[in-house]
Amino acid sequence: MIRFEHVSKRYPDGTTAVDDLSFEVAEGELVTLVGPSGCGKTTTMKMMNRLIEPTSGRILLDGEDISTVDPVQLRRRIGYVIQQVGLFPHKTVLDNTATVPHLLGWKRGKGRERAAELLDLVGLDPGVYGDRYPDQLSGGQRQRVGVARALAADPPVLLMDEPFGAVDPVVRERLQSEFRKLQSTLRKTVLFVTHDMDEAVRLGDRIAVYGAGRIEQFDAPAAVLGAPATEYVADFVGADRGLKRLSVTPIEESDLEQPPVVRLDDPVADAARRLRASDARWAVVLDGEDNLHGWISAEHTQLAGTVRDHARRMEAWLPVGAPLKQAFATMLQHDAGWIAVIDERGDGRFLGVLTPATLHEALRRSTTADARDVARSEVELETVSGR
Ligand code: ADP
Ligand code: MG
Repeated sequence: MIRFEHVSKRYPDGTTAVDDLSFEVAEGELVTLVGPSGCGKTTTMKMMNRLIEPTSGRILLDGEDISTVDPVQLRRRIGYVIQQVGLFPHKTVLDNTATVPHLLGWKRGKGRERAAELLDLVGLDPGVYGDRYPDQLSGGQRQRVGVARALAADPPVLLMDEPFGAVDPVVRERLQSEFRKLQSTLRKTVLFVTHDMDEAVRLGDRIAVYGAGRIEQFDAPAAVLGAPATEYVADFVGADRGLKRLSVTPIEESDLEQPPVVRLDDPVADAARRLRASDARWAVVLDGEDNLHGWISAEHTQLAGTVRDHARRMEAWLPVGAPLKQAFATMLQHDAGWIAVIDERGDGRFLGVLTPATLHEALRRSTTADARDVARSEVELETVSGR
């Protein structure tokens, strides 16, 4: 979808802002560009919509060299969201959002209809906010309008340059999770600039870590965190990258352990036998539909009756695909030595359990699966020391 080929930008004063940049972004992919101030992120974005021309190299959009495309035409295919939003102060929220449809010559009614739809999409009730002016909104709300406006003409590509940089951390986290949800349905091709590694990890399908004018590593979040390509990247992602990795590594079915399983209507004596056979202290209890009911402990299997009479409800469970961090948090919250994992998208079927040991294995998988030459011992040392 987007392809940079040996792109460099030298400003007239001799500053090399971007040096021999090559990368590709697939359709529907969200790539975060992260790096310290002045490393060339904004320059990269502005070359994409031809606000700045590269000194050398070329940029392709959908296979087409953008230097041959009329900039105005080009920008209709590229939504642009910046930190200072740039809303027109004398226009209402609705009219601000309808700016591009208006420029494209849509009928006024149709443009406003589309604008209302988009405000709704970004969590602003058009009935409440549509007629307000930008200075009657909070910073977070203004950013939402900025996103809505960029989406108005339904461009396939979005450029977002530190869009949430100016709002406080709580609002920023909310905007991030809303945007991620939005992106999971819209599937735009997005370049998202940030100087915040946490934001890059949270939002990016892949991350481009910028050093001075160059990309030091371009990879999935788990790979950047688990196997930084250079000393610089390791420094930049920080000492808590092990923790960060927890939030980008999903629970997979193959991570799970299979404890003994009994049914609600089984006699307790059967459960006792099952536990003895596998030398386990508890079993998972399922109902007739294979859905998770709870668990039964070995002590209770000395008693009479059916499993139903003695089983306890299970509170600590997660859907497969949830991040390991959530698994870890759930374990702590319920003071549980294990948690059940179910297939939420399917029919809620029980899949297995995650224990501290399997959690650790899964975390290790997130680094080594990445076919990178990281010595196993190195990875082990890191996980043991908790870095
Ligand atoms: P970032 O967005 O990562 O903070 P920029 O792309 O804005 O970085 O800037 C990259 C480098 O180019 C910086 O050293 C900056 O000072 C320089 N730069 C940006 N714009 C200009 C300009 N118009 N003229 C000269 N130097 C510039
Ligand atoms: Mg910038």
